[in-house]
Amino acid sequence: MKPRWLFADQLGPHFLDSPDQPVLLVESKAVFRRRAFHRQKAHLVLSALRHRATDANTRLVRTETYAEALTEPVSVCHPTSRAARALVQRLPDVEMLPPRGFVTAPHDFVSWAEGRNHLRLEDFYRFARANHDVLMDGGEPTGGRWNYDADNREPPPRRMDVPEPPAIAEDDIDAEVRADLDRWERDDGIEFVGNDGPRRFPATRREALARLRHFVQHRLPAFGPYEDAMLAGDPWMAHSMLSPAINLGLLDPLEVIHRAEQAYRDGSAPLNSTEGFIRQILGWRDFVWHLYWYFEPEYRAANELRARRELPKWFAELDADAVGARCLSDVLKGVRDHGWVHHIPRLMVLGNYAMQRGWRPAAVADWFHRCFVDGYEWVMTANVVGMSQFADGGRMSTKPYAAGGAYVNRMSDYCKPCRYDPKVRTGDNACPYTAGYWSFLARHEDALRANHRMRRPLQGLHRLDDLAVLVEQEAARGSRAP
Ligand code: FAD
Repeated sequence: MKPRWLFADQLGPHFLDSPDQPVLLVESKAVFRRRAFHRQKAHLVLSALRHRATDANTRLVRTETYAEALTEPVSVCHPTSRAARALVQRLPDVEMLPPRGFVTAPHDFVSWAEGRNHLRLEDFYRFARANHDVLMDGGEPTGGRWNYDADNREPPPRRMDVPEPPAIAEDDIDAEVRADLDRWERDDGIEFVGNDGPRRFPATRREALARLRHFVQHRLPAFGPYEDAMLAGDPWMAHSMLSPAINLGLLDPLEVIHRAEQAYRDGSAPLNSTEGFIRQILGWRDFVWHLYWYFEPEYRAANELRARRELPKWFAELDADAVGARCLSDVLKGVRDHGWVHHIPRLMVLGNYAMQRGWRPAAVADWFHRCFVDGYEWVMTANVVGMSQFADGGRMSTKPYAAGGAYVNRMSDYCKPCRYDPKVRTGDNACPYTAGYWSFLARHEDALRANHRMRRPLQGLHRLDDLAVLVEQEAARGSRAP
């Protein structure tokens, strides 16, 4: 049996043909020279790779580039980026197998997508549920409905009554990684962003399985109702925090889905939470993966709204203390201190702010890729370029995820103590999200007019009597931190 070359995001048993297959791992420093990743992301990836290297039959080669390490014939599962795939295709003696680590097979996605005018998550998700017999009873969706979103949009409670996942115990490998990263920063000119901190995400299969068990038992029941809510003092809420482990390949998404479905069938998790969680993995995660390959390579540079501003320094450098708006400051602090915030802060606080200000979508995608512990190229295109920046003009979502302070106020506890008022559009205490929302609509009215879901917001825009002042005020704000 040929050794299997595993990329650092292919670390679980489902990337091997048998448990005793020899494994080749490559640790390349060049990756860290090319761009400034979050310090905790670099730590997590290296820790996972080095922990995996302690398994039997496994060889870790440290080189500057991948090519130097590949001196014998190997097989490899389809990598997760176009650049890595091109590299694999260039190397002699490397056999590339179909992708693993996702649920729907590429040819099934293509057959589903071909001939459709619009590719929508909801349609793909229903197809995948039926195709993989997940939460189905006799050909019908369990409970009679495909979608429990209506039960899953609760504003936040005062506090979440769920236990945090147990802390991860770092070991000698983590200490070695930390010392190496310190040395690379000091002696090799390698730069990172964000703060170092205790490792919070699984680096081994054992840790990942423990995190999954804990989530399904203690946190899944509360996942659904509050999945869209934000609490200033609780960055994790009832989210699974499993994306880094699934994206490193430590967990097979289908095993995660089956564990959640089993919890529902055993009566220990309600259907709305189980369905909401499964929708994220079987639906969203696979959907964005397939769109990355299905859309043409130029998609990642799409910029339909012609957003050309570069990211301001305070944002690029995660300077949460420079920001007065409570929501943005707290979310940026989460990125700085953990390299992770949950979905709604990513979409409605960070992405929304960037889109309102007209920041270049490719720069926003690069920022998300580098600053998040679960960030990978394939996740960026659909989530950042498409969903959060609407830079594809609506190929994967029906309208821009633009919202003013009223949304943040409804779905979080951020606004009451904030120096800005979500109801105020102009003046010293104008909420930057509210002002930014109207100024975004004013700027893009022509591009959005044909979209029937934007008709009411655009009618609202025309009723504003202070639009000129608001637009001027936003222009004067420039790239200053709000
Ligand atoms: P949960 O809320 O517990 O959800 C369960 C799982 O569903 C996640 O672990 C993840 O594997 C999957 N999932 C849910 N939504 C998505 C989605 N839209 N795309 C892909 N997987 C999804 N996800 C990443 O894995 N890496 C990223 O770099 C990333 N960047 C994002 C950037 C933006 C602007 C947006 C809007 C979303 C991004 N997401 C990304 C998707 C989502 O926000 C994260 O997967 C989720 O917040 C991770 O936390 P969790 O594991 O607690 O997720």
